[in-house]
Amino acid sequence: MAKINRNYLSLPGSYLFSRIGEKIRCFQEQHPEADIIRLGIGDVTQPIAPAIISTLHDAVDEMGDAETFHGYAPDLGYEFLRSAIAQKDYRERNCDISAEEIFISDGAKCDCGNIQEIFSTDNRIAVCDPVYPVYVDSNVMAGRCGKYDPQTGRFANVIYMPCTKENGYVPQLPEEVPDLIYLCFPNNPTGAVMKKDKLQEWVDYAVYHGSVILYDAAYEAYISEAEIPHSIYECEGARKCAIEFRSFSKTAGFTGLRLGFTVVPKELEAEGTALWPLWARRHGTKYNGAPYIIQRAGEAVYSAEGRRQVLSQVAYYMENAKIIYSSLRSAGYEVSGGVNAPYIWLRTPGRMTSWEFFDYLLEEAGVVGTPGSGFGPSGEHYFRLTAFGDRKRTIEAVERIGRL
Ligand SMILES: *Cc1c(COP(=O)(O)O)cnc(C)c1O
Repeated sequence: MAKINRNYLSLPGSYLFSRIGEKIRCFQEQHPEADIIRLGIGDVTQPIAPAIISTLHDAVDEMGDAETFHGYAPDLGYEFLRSAIAQKDYRERNCDISAEEIFISDGAKCDCGNIQEIFSTDNRIAVCDPVYPVYVDSNVMAGRCGKYDPQTGRFANVIYMPCTKENGYVPQLPEEVPDLIYLCFPNNPTGAVMKKDKLQEWVDYAVYHGSVILYDAAYEAYISEAEIPHSIYECEGARKCAIEFRSFSKTAGFTGLRLGFTVVPKELEAEGTALWPLWARRHGTKYNGAPYIIQRAGEAVYSAEGRRQVLSQVAYYMENAKIIYSSLRSAGYEVSGGVNAPYIWLRTPGRMTSWEFFDYLLEEAGVVGTPGSGFGPSGEHYFRLTAFGDRKRTIEAVERIGRL
């Protein structure tokens, strides 16, 4: 008789975005005339940049000619893309990362979710609270998190590191030492960043304790301030303790095209065993590579023209962020984020819960955001708005909120 993986049954029900979708559907049904503006889900809206589209067309044509056709991609990804990444994202920022240490994939979500497979189920994980749900859920599925307590919204075996106004949304080094530490900066959902000296403390802590940091840098392209590290490998010793995840999704609008990569330094070890061969083995066994045409499109992101176009899209979103941030602030809200990340994190007014504020905003302003409590218990009384919308609609949304 087939038996199921019972760990799946400990996942708390009702996925955040399906609950939001259901609420919007109900509201729209009762108010068919309502013009709803969605600043909730973290998906981009600008089309793929022209330099990338032109490369995609060329790559598609190559696939139609026997001379230039491409079948299975090399296990770790095409050399042309891995070299471009090593050069532009790392060496030009003085990070000692080689093309060989880069594993191409179809996005950071899979990599963040799959990386835990190369570690023992005995490992204790630490996550920020609030947090991108993938880190915890993928460890629940593997049986690493223990029992879920619906009262506290926490799993018994997870070390939660609260990120609130009190600590500037940057976690403190945990007293109880974790084996695996998930960090994401610039942060989704809070939009917070970690300065280089602070990140260096984390690297030192991990090296000292033999922990591994799993560093999600999906929003690296949104960093605007000079003292904020773009990669964890800007810190000394990070090659000995950190794996980094990157994505083309928010950087270049690839949420529908799908492309990302993971960096595993050759020096990185756990229990005296190198992790690079383990991840290479996992990648080669369970994954057959991102499509050739998409990897070519990724390469185009690093061309001079592609770079310029992609940066102007990021600037467009960050102008939205500025508009949301300053309008809400003038309207009396307590806001943070929005400077090095496309997310604005605000405190709900008058002690409203996150979901109460969600309903209030939907009913009174026709604006949809994301309740902070959906990202973890410390997100309660907070709310996330994204800068990924259309400019005119974003302005309209904050004007409506200002009128409340
Ligand atoms: C959007 C996002 C990603 C990227 O996911 P993809 O699978 O590459 O689209 C990764 N981490 C965080 C925190 C994100 O918000």
